[in-house]
Parts: sequence; C-alpha cells; structure tokens
Amino acid sequence: SGVALRTAATKHPPNAEQPPVAKRVAIVGGGAGGLVVLREFLRENHDALCFEQGNDVGGVWRYSKATDTDPLGKDPHRTVVHTSMYKGLRTNLPRQIMGFSDFPMDPEGRAMQMAASAPGAGAPSSARTPAVGEDSKVSSSQSAATHARAHDDGGVAEGCTSLDSRIYPRHEEVQNYLRAFAAWFGLHKAVRCNTRVLSARPIFAPPHEEQHKPMQQTAPGSSASDGHGSLDTTRGVRWLLEVESHAADTSASDTEAQQHSPRQHGVEQHEFDALVVCNGHYTEPNLPEVPGMDVSPVFQMHSHNYRSPDQFKGQVVLVVGNSNSGDDISKELSAVAKTVHLCARAYTARSPPPPGSMFPNVIRRPMVSGLTEDGRALFPDGLEEHIDAVVYCTGYRYAFPFLPGTTHQEPSAEQSNGQKAQQYQQGAHANGSGPSPVSDISQFVVSEGHHVQPLYKHMFPPALAPSLSFVGLPWKIVPFPQMELQGKLIARVLSGRAQLPSPEVMSAEARQHLEGLRQAGIPLRFAHMQNLEQFAYNDELAEMCGDVEKLPSWRQAMYLAAGMNKRGCPESYRDVWTEEALLKEAEQDFAPKLR
Ligand code: FAD
Repeated sequence: SGVALRTAATKHPPNAEQPPVAKRVAIVGGGAGGLVVLREFLRENHDALCFEQGNDVGGVWRYSKATDTDPLGKDPHRTVVHTSMYKGLRTNLPRQIMGFSDFPMDPEGRAMQMAASAPGAGAPSSARTPAVGEDSKVSSSQSAATHARAHDDGGVAEGCTSLDSRIYPRHEEVQNYLRAFAAWFGLHKAVRCNTRVLSARPIFAPPHEEQHKPMQQTAPGSSASDGHGSLDTTRGVRWLLEVESHAADTSASDTEAQQHSPRQHGVEQHEFDALVVCNGHYTEPNLPEVPGMDVSPVFQMHSHNYRSPDQFKGQVVLVVGNSNSGDDISKELSAVAKTVHLCARAYTARSPPPPGSMFPNVIRRPMVSGLTEDGRALFPDGLEEHIDAVVYCTGYRYAFPFLPGTTHQEPSAEQSNGQKAQQYQQGAHANGSGPSPVSDISQFVVSEGHHVQPLYKHMFPPALAPSLSFVGLPWKIVPFPQMELQGKLIARVLSGRAQLPSPEVMSAEARQHLEGLRQAGIPLRFAHMQNLEQFAYNDELAEMCGDVEKLPSWRQAMYLAAGMNKRGCPESYRDVWTEEALLKEAEQDFAPKLR
C-alpha cells in the first residue's frame, strides 16, 4: 500500500500508571461504541470482553436485507433485526469528522489499507469467538480486506468493497472502516460474536467482604475521601451476566433473527467488575399515536424496517417526520412513488416543492391528524388524501432489555443517590442469605424511552457509577469521536487514573440538568440532544481524563460548515462542498497518523 505501518507499541501505548488490579469488564455491543470502548479498555490494561449478538462487528452499519417480522415494530414478540440502515443510505456527516481521532476515515482509505496490510491484523469475528477469560490468539491467516469481503452478502449494494471516497460515503464504507478499525487494533481477540447478553444484574458484596476488597488506586495528588473518587457506595458491586451463544450463521446478514434464534446452543453465566452498555439506540421504533392507525387498511412501517423504495412503486406514500430519515427516505421514494406527502409538526400548511426541485412530487404537509378505515390520511388544515402506505420516520426509543427494570418504567423520583444504594445494599443482605443478583435496578436508573435518568454526564448512574456506564446516548452529535472520549474516561475511572465526583455531587448535577430543561420549557425527550453543546461536553470529557488531548478545532468547524451547507443546499448538500481549507486541515491532522 505504500503506507508505513505503525508499531504495536504505538497502537497500545504503554500505561505508565498501570493499576495494580485491572478490572474485568463486560461491554454489551460490538458497534462503533463497543469497539472503541474495548480499544480504550485494552489500552488501559483492563481485562475486557465485548459481547456482540450479531455475527460481525459494526452494529447499525452492518446492513441487512432482513427486517423485523412486524414492520411497524409494535409487536413485543416480533423477531428483531438490529440494523436500521437502508440500501441507498449515504452518511449525513462528512467522513473526515465521523472517524475516530487516531484512525482517520480519510478519503483515500489509507487507514483501511494500513489495517489490511498489517500482519495478523484481521480475523473473521464469527470464526473466532473467545471463551470468557480465555487469552485467545487471533488467526493471522486473513487480512482485514479479505475479512471485509468475506462478509458481503446479497443485500449489500454493488461495489461495497471498493472505496467510496466521497465526503459523504455510502454505508458500506463506514462498515468497512469499522472492520478495519477492529482489525488494526487487534480487537477481535476480545469480541465474542454470536453472543447475546440476556441479562446483566448487579450483585452487592456484603459489608464484611467489602472490607477485604483492595482500595481503588487514586491518581497522584488526589484522595478517595476528598469528595472526588469516592466509590464507597458501589465498591464491591459485581455484575452477573447471562449470555446466550448461538451458532455462527454465515448468511446471517440476509436471514438473521437476532432474537428467539432457533440455533441457540447455550446459556452461560459470568461475573464482571463493571459493565459498559453500548447497545445502540436506533433499533426500538418510536411510534406516534395517530388516531385511526389501528384501523387503517394501508401498509404501515417504521423507518427501522425500510430498506429500499422498490415496494412503493407508483404509490401515494405518507412519510411522517422530517428529521434525517424522513428527509432522506422521502427523497428516495420520490424516484418511484406517484406522490410523497411528507408531514411533520414543523410544517403548518400544505406546500408543494419549489419550482425546479429535484423532487417534484414531494409535498410538505402539516402533521397527519388521523387515518381512516377507507385509506385516507386527514390533516389539521381540513385537507385529506387517499394514500397507499405510511412510513413513520419518527425516531427511536432507548431500550435495555437485559438490564432488569430499566425499560418502560415510570419515572423514578430523582432518588438514585449513594444513600439509596447503601439502603438497597443493606436490604439486599438483610436476610443474611449472602449476596444475590438484584432483579430490578429501576431505583438506580431507568429508561423512559426518550431519555435515561439519572445520569452524570450522560453516562454514569450516580448510585452505580463507575461499575455501570452507558456509552453513545447523546444525539444530534458526531458519535464516533465522542464515544471514543467516553470510553477513555470510563477506562481511566475504573483503573483509578481519573476520578468521578461523589455520588451526591453526580446526582445533584444530573438533577440540575433535567431541572434546567424543565425550567426552559424543553421536553425531557431532548435530555440527550446536544448539537452545539457536544463540543464543550467533549472537551470536558477530555479534561476529566487528565491526559487526553481535546479534539482539534477543525472538527467543530467542519460540523458547522456541514450544517450550513445542508441548510443552503438541502437537496444536494452531500455532493456540494466548498470549504476546501477545512479539508486541508483535516488532511494535515490525518497525515502523521497514517505514517
Ligand atoms: P450500534 O451501532 O447500534 O451497535 C450496538 C451493537 O450492540 C449492535 O451490534 C448490536 O447487535 C449489539 N447489541 C445490542 N443488544 C445486545 C445484546 N443484548 N447482546 C449483545 N449485543 C447486543 N452516525 C454518523 O456518525 N454518521 C451518519 O451518517 C449516521 N447515519 C445514521 C443513519 C441511520 C439510519 C442510523 C440508524 C444511524 C446513523 N448514525 C450515523 C448513528 C449511528 O448510530 C452511530 O454512528 C453509531 O453507529 C452508533 O454506534 P453504537 O455502537 O452506539 O450502536
């Protein structure tokens, strides 16, 4: 490739302050978040294992033709496919800012070439799934490039293995990038594919065991009793995971049924010191309550199950919701459908496309107010349309089915603090029967669908931190580099090289965040929405790490430029880019990392 290789030592820089006791950590999910968290944990010398239910890494970028058995996603017993990617999807962010800080998503694909030519770098994740605790050796027989090809399937658009060097590439490019990332950093040895986490329950150590547990190492100059780094409430919390492995299915991309798999062949239990949740939040559909949707005879689906416009040929389609998916899917549909009615809360009146639009049959409408038994859609302005289908592009809900009690619970009364954890801990041992896993953690953390609370820095439930953390919850952000910073912080907190405030301080900050939203009249569904706030948040994470550089300023500038470009050229923004200087800055940042 002509690209010089970096040494393994550079990939995993030695940690001068290695803690005496590394943590044994479970990571749920092998998507972009799980992978980068795993990389950070290995760098920090933790004993980390990543469980991935699919047969390969990549998460939501692992495209599949398969869809849920219920296209609307209402049936709780439906078979669920994780990905929400559709065949023609191109990224909605420039590739330069999407990539991790030290593995550039460069237009020439140099990072991917680097990974492909690294001896022993790649191995098919489904071919080698280490047992828990096993120090496995990675097969060196297959390069990352071969690996990428080996997992192609009929559902992936043609040309998926060739480089898509555009600023906004197709989804296959991102998946290939993630595979290369895993290969370059040797992550496959610690990823257990085809393994689903069924449940993860905390076990609180009884007080007498607690006394014998070694203290966390604290960073030089800090003290565990100064209000920072106080881990008292959860020192001794362990996590009991129940995982189910199933046979590697080489055709899984087409036929996968990640839940209720008939090929399952074993449920195992394992204990860990800490749990990091990286299960993604673009799989569980969020549906609006549209009067009549249960009696309407027209075909209805959620965008999670949309793969291509083909089935809508010649139809009148109602698309509900105008954020990224609604916007893109209505444009895709426009090419084959008779008419697309794109309705959203933001639109107050019927408005046809402007003259000269590339999408002349996409009509904006106010939010649909009802569906009827004879196939009409009603709008609040009194107008109505006969429709053939509805595609709900109405977002997703946070869901953690493996964390008992967290999903779809009533709001907890801001009660999760250290004191509560101690009470709970005492209660858990009150009968003297010794530690047993807790089967409902809703008093520590709950997901209310639209947000998870209480959380410190969108990651740590104060009463269970740092033994439990969530990665990748914020939205309207650039996720990969942010999840990288989150991973760096969690890894350092667990090793004792970085500190969290006391549970009380974390609780107070989590409360303040929600209170701030309430006072500003902002619905709680925006609790993890960051947009411009992401940059200060990212910097704060880097500062908390202590030894981590902030993300370079060109990334923020490019994010802002991309937003302006999209507003200026909504129909063609992916193929129009004028900020050459920013591309140069990105390249200057990338070049030394590719040597
Ligand atoms: P995921 O990628 O969802 O990975 C989670 C993983 O956890 C999956 O592999 C899943 O199988 C696994 N898992 C879940 N539950 C279990 C379990 N119980 N046991 C074991 N494994 C489990 N981001 C961008 O930066 N740019 C874009 O252009 C962009 N476009 C997008 C378009 C769409 C349609 C969608 C849905 C998202 C888009 N995103 C984009 C956001 C995207 O979600 C993030 O880029 C990123 O992939 C999130 O990574 P993750 O690891 O948090 O989650």
